[in-house]
Amino acid sequence: MNKNEIPYKIYLKEEEMPKQWYNVRADMKNKPAKLLNPATLQPVTEEELSNIFCKELVKQELDETNPYIDIPEQIREFYKMYRPSPLVRAYCLEKKLGTPAKIYYKFEGNNTSGSHKLNSAIAQAYYAKEQGLKGVTTETGAGQWGTALSMACSYFDLDCQVYMVKCSYEQKPFRREVMRTYGANVTPSPSESTEVGKKILAEHPGTTGSLGCAISEAVEAATTQEGYRYVLGSVLSQVLLHQSVIGLEALAALDKYGQKADIIIGCAGGGSNLGGLISPFMGQQLRGEAEYKFIAVEPASCPSLTRGVYAYDFCDTGKVCPLQKMYTLGSGFIPSPNHAGGLRYHGMSATLSQLYADGLMEARSVEQTAVFEAAEQFARVEGILPAPESSHAIRVAIDEALKCKETGEEKTIVFGLTGTGYFDMFAYEKFHDGKMSDYIPTDEELQASFAKLPKVDL
Ligand SMILES: *Cc1c(COP(=O)(O)O)cnc(C)c1O
Repeated sequence: MNKNEIPYKIYLKEEEMPKQWYNVRADMKNKPAKLLNPATLQPVTEEELSNIFCKELVKQELDETNPYIDIPEQIREFYKMYRPSPLVRAYCLEKKLGTPAKIYYKFEGNNTSGSHKLNSAIAQAYYAKEQGLKGVTTETGAGQWGTALSMACSYFDLDCQVYMVKCSYEQKPFRREVMRTYGANVTPSPSESTEVGKKILAEHPGTTGSLGCAISEAVEAATTQEGYRYVLGSVLSQVLLHQSVIGLEALAALDKYGQKADIIIGCAGGGSNLGGLISPFMGQQLRGEAEYKFIAVEPASCPSLTRGVYAYDFCDTGKVCPLQKMYTLGSGFIPSPNHAGGLRYHGMSATLSQLYADGLMEARSVEQTAVFEAAEQFARVEGILPAPESSHAIRVAIDEALKCKETGEEKTIVFGLTGTGYFDMFAYEKFHDGKMSDYIPTDEELQASFAKLPKVDL
């Protein structure tokens, strides 16, 4: 191999890993809208948020001026257990597609939790420990966040209580066992163990739950137990901040080989991996140093950016969390069962929502079968078995690479490969058996949901 040739995997050295997170809000002209108190509809204060979240995390949540925030030593030590993550040049996929495009993916699935979520879980557990808490509560949908948080809590010897959306609790018993292996307590949601859970069960008997319900239960559990706070694995600005390690490493790896991305693609559930991946690149663009095309990819069954409205909405079904202005399908919207469980959230990160509203990012929605076709194609040539969520990004990366094949353009495409799909074989089975379907909400259904949005005059 030629010395200047780009290796299949670019690994930074441990000492080249970022020592600070990057806060893209600092470079945004239009800042994300303020969080509101759900009872008073006034901007939520640091004190109010501190009843729910850890103090230091509240500071990070509200910080829209400091571009760089130091990563504490202990978090960097933990990062070294599974980072830096490789930036892989998808030579085999390029060859298979016959495209002149250069395709790279940042692979975040090389840890036991199987996804990027550990990057924020360890940070949130660290600040909880530092505050002297006994434990934290959270929700998990598909199970990746709960798994990551259990690992982080066991590292810092914190109690970890996870409310897991009932349908995935039943569908993914092995995810649950991984969490229990790391010492977490896992409760199927909605449950009888919280007031809000009882209320939801009374209104919707037999419901198999949703992320919005599980969040409400976890928040209640945190605020009713001494020494506990609630933590969240996506959507919030603090999570995007922690996930900026993905983008910072990717940018450093590209720079090392004199490469410049043209198109950056990521799947978007609550927006944390995409936000983390694009942040440093977006920062360059906002400062006028470079230009990129950013693409968010979401499932057609839960299309918050492509078909949602930009409005204040509740982050949870029980309406206990602060209101956030975001692209939303309405907090009462329960997306149809989709195998990309991590992308079934009704809203979107406030930061990404503002960037999208300002025309700085594009969004596409893709159907499930097309996603699994891309997943299988990718697995067969690149070896890695991708998570269904991540495969949304693969789908659009392949589509963009095929466009380059038509035009002959040698664009550099970077996408986020957020995780592995070992716990999703039920979904792969449906795909292989030709039994995969996709329910795409009708305009009428979405309008009915939008009609229930809270009325906020600001
Ligand atoms: C949770 C998850 C996602 C989606 O969450 P974001 O906050 O939008 O990043 C994507 N991929 C995997 C593997 C996940 O676990």
